[in-house]
Amino acid sequence: MALSAGVNLSALAPWASDPRRTRGRRLHEPLAPPRNEHQRDRDRIVHSTAFRRLVYKTQVFINHEGDLFRTRLTHSLEVAQLGRSAARALNLNEDLVEAIALAHDLGHTPFGHAGQDALQACMQDHGGFEHNLQSLRVVDRLEARYAAFDGLNLCFETREGILKHCSRTNAALLLAAEPDGPAQRFLDGTQPSLEAQLANQADGLAYNAHDIDDGVRSGLITVEQLGEVPLFAQWRDAALAEHPSLAERPGRRLLFETLRRMLSAQLEDLVVTSAAALAEQRPADADAVRRLPPLVRFSAVQHARQTELKRFLFTGLYRHPSVTQSTALARTVVAELFAAYRARAAEMPADYAQAADLPRAVADYIAGMTDRFALREHHRLTGRRLFDA
Ligand code: MG
Repeated sequence: MALSAGVNLSALAPWASDPRRTRGRRLHEPLAPPRNEHQRDRDRIVHSTAFRRLVYKTQVFINHEGDLFRTRLTHSLEVAQLGRSAARALNLNEDLVEAIALAHDLGHTPFGHAGQDALQACMQDHGGFEHNLQSLRVVDRLEARYAAFDGLNLCFETREGILKHCSRTNAALLLAAEPDGPAQRFLDGTQPSLEAQLANQADGLAYNAHDIDDGVRSGLITVEQLGEVPLFAQWRDAALAEHPSLAERPGRRLLFETLRRMLSAQLEDLVVTSAAALAEQRPADADAVRRLPPLVRFSAVQHARQTELKRFLFTGLYRHPSVTQSTALARTVVAELFAAYRARAAEMPADYAQAADLPRAVADYIAGMTDRFALREHHRLTGRRLFDA
């Protein structure tokens, strides 16, 4: 094990992304031993301003609704933890999975999907707004920490994982600026690295479980209702069989015992199914992976069960009147902020106020805000308070 490698790279599977064979950074930089290039990307992400803001950004619930709900930061940490567990079991590159997981939501607006929808509507005639693209924009351009370049100058593989979705129109625009960049796969239909595929699966795994937890905590859904969802019922029954006393006082411990089993079983399913797919396909190297179908996946049975759970969460939680009521207010906050800054650019910091493309600068400025800063700014600029914080 070479000291400069930082981790035991000889344990990597032949199809894993090897930091010694990275496609590199857009601007060349000397190596930084003892860290390898993907550890270094992870560190740049953790030290970024956008990463610290995730602590005050909504996942499903608006940040001030309660201190115990997930935020984008705790969500990202859970994604990283699940992704690393699977990466280690599959001999994939843990550092790369961690870097992608920690960065995957950096472009999220305040107020979760409500904020994203509102900003998308505001930007409709100005090139649109898409949170995956914005995450890439944060690490490529908006972070201002280096003397020699904008952004964090991350490796191709990290940027490829961050750009999880992209429309063909946006892909074409990105490619015009960067031929062979991470947008290429959206035009030629290829896959990203196994580590990117894994971070993506860990994302879904994490939010299915923690949205149940937050949903029950908020009182909007109940453990009894969740009993209709086979994936949940299976592991609730297993928890009750092992701890019959939980039936007498079903509460948070029953919920946690259920979620723990559910997550663990899904993680195992993901590792076993992916290992079998890899053993069957035996890609020659990390590049061969990109020309194959997705190989990091759940079994068909597990996938079907997750779909049922997602459907339940969609109607029972994400579309719950109490959630949609606060998201409607959040949309108003974002739309009114957008109008206010366009009319009075000088209300923004100089870097944004003097940008050549004002609508894009306004979108960048708003997208970077935490929930509470957006509410403060909205009150300052309109004199109205839409939430009692
Ligand atoms: Mg996510």
